[in-house]
Amino acid sequence: MTEQPAAPSAPRMVAVADGVHAYIQPDGGWYLNNAVLIDGPDAAISIDSAATEARTAAYQDEIARVTDRPVRTVVATHHHGDHTHGNHLFSGATIVSHPYCRDRVLREDYHAVLPMFAGPEWGDIRAAGPAVTFAERLELWSGERRVELRHPGRAAHTHGDVYAWLPDDRLLISGDLIFNGGTPMLAEGSPTGLLRTLEEIGELAPRLIVPGHGEPCGLEAVEATTDYLRWILGVARDAHAEGLSPLDAARSIDAGRFSGLREPERLVMNLHSCYAEFEGTAVDMGQLAADTFAIVGGPIPSCA
Ligand SMILES: [Zn+2]
Repeated sequence: MTEQPAAPSAPRMVAVADGVHAYIQPDGGWYLNNAVLIDGPDAAISIDSAATEARTAAYQDEIARVTDRPVRTVVATHHHGDHTHGNHLFSGATIVSHPYCRDRVLREDYHAVLPMFAGPEWGDIRAAGPAVTFAERLELWSGERRVELRHPGRAAHTHGDVYAWLPDDRLLISGDLIFNGGTPMLAEGSPTGLLRTLEEIGELAPRLIVPGHGEPCGLEAVEATTDYLRWILGVARDAHAEGLSPLDAARSIDAGRFSGLREPERLVMNLHSCYAEFEGTAVDMGQLAADTFAIVGGPIPSCA
């Protein structure tokens, strides 16, 4: 009998500060994001939701186990579907985001994007346009707890990232600026922009970080992501100078100390992002998708 790989463990709520609960979806792979529930005296705030109707319902069941107060505010850390597909299921909640995120959520062509990924039963997912947007910073209050929402001021993981900083708890909710245990994903973002943003996050000296994917972590995850970004900028610059396409470069680069990270197919995506930054152009998302398919051999396996 051949040994089967261990199934990912079930999602779970983890208390990360008094009244703050991280919803962790192992193993943090494609579409297996984290969300955070900030409970307050009268209402709760959710940072992000989940990728499918069923996964959002499971998150809402866990919310009901830790509070009987309604979620009245949902913060979208960025437009990607794992963080936003379930937002509309928080009926009556006000959705908050960066303007770019709102624009992308409303323009997202699910029929074009979703077939890129194999696996999920998406269920009832809809584009829920944020009703409140902010360009730089916004403070939310949950009783006496201040929740600072910050846009880095530049492209990083996307052009519309928001991270949450809870100063009294020294807790940082990073969205996909950090993948703990996964390959960082730049795609349409910016490698140098993410590097600068990670420096700023480091200066906050958080006690704990809830990343967009993977287990809660400390500054070591910021350092690991920084290490990866410096590495990929170096190998991308060499490959670009040699005239290699991102796909040919991805096939020839040895990921070395990063080869144990999940989602190794993001290497080719990240090379596209580096090349676009070197050339001062936008990433050709169609070519990026085609090259990723060529590496994976078909649609990308993702959450069930
Ligand atoms: Zn993302």
